[in-house]
Amino acid sequence: MGFIGLGNMGGPMAHNLAAAGHTVVGFDTAGTTAEGVAVAETAQAACADADFVITMLPNGAILRAVADQALPAMKSGAVLIDCSTVDVDSARHVGAQAAEMGLGFVDAPVSGGVGGASGGTLTFMTGGSDAAFAAASPLFDIMGQKAVHCGEAGAGQAAKICNNMILGATMAVTCEAFALADKLGLDRQKMFDVVSTSSGYSWSMNAYCPAPGVGPQSPADNDYTPGFAAELMLKDLGLSQQAAKAVDADTPMGALARELYAEFVENEDGKGRDFSAMLPRFAARGRD
Ligand code: NAD
Repeated sequence: MGFIGLGNMGGPMAHNLAAAGHTVVGFDTAGTTAEGVAVAETAQAACADADFVITMLPNGAILRAVADQALPAMKSGAVLIDCSTVDVDSARHVGAQAAEMGLGFVDAPVSGGVGGASGGTLTFMTGGSDAAFAAASPLFDIMGQKAVHCGEAGAGQAAKICNNMILGATMAVTCEAFALADKLGLDRQKMFDVVSTSSGYSWSMNAYCPAPGVGPQSPADNDYTPGFAAELMLKDLGLSQQAAKAVDADTPMGALARELYAEFVENEDGKGRDFSAMLPRFAARGRD
């Protein structure tokens, strides 16, 4: 199979496929590779003769450009599986392009981060035909622990951006609630003990607590080294707002979360920090 985009996520995913016995031919413009993965000189060369081509790329514009090169080089009946997080329109566009050429397509963005990519424990949220999903499923089983078929092409990306809009908004409000609790004189551990077992609980509080030394191990315990970088959260919140605008959906909480992360990444010290570093940001501020 071909694997295009061997970065932080794609590298370990390609390695896991190779370790499971697949012949994997990779291509990355940065010249990166992964253990057990053969290197091709071009995207087209990585795709020739492949039954599956997997892409793990930074954004939709790059996916479209790579698809323009890769799809014509693929053999009839092969399936393109895009695991990148991109806009819904790009996923639908590439899906339609593949269908016109007699190729299968699955959009399959992931949750689980670099740890999940290395450990083969990613969750895939997918869109595409039943046949393409069924064909790709054995590969999802190697790279991940769960794959949900959400609907036609683009449905995986729709699920991903809705999930991450909830995540961004809940992390922001969890961080501001800790900062409020501090100022009310409430101990952070007590705050966690109450909220994690009360109706304010969430993944942001219970599994990824933004307060250092409280709750399970999280990036907060490692000086907010990502983890999930604030700029990646900003990217995903931007995608959800772009999608909301396209379909005329009212998403004010998501819009505010995007604004907060834009401020944090572009004008404050959020770049290169975990997205839960919103807590020290709020703790250092007053109302104005
Ligand atoms: P990354 O920047 O480490 O990897 C992207 C790779 O694509 C790079 O190695 C780059 O050189 C390569 N690339 C760029 N243009 C190319 C082209 N035209 N042809 C071939 N290769 C090209 O990013 P990543 O962290 O691996 O993320 C990849 C995707 O996964 C993104 O869409 C991201 O939003 C998503 N994602 C990342 C995480 C995470 O925690 N890192 C979690 C979930 C989803």
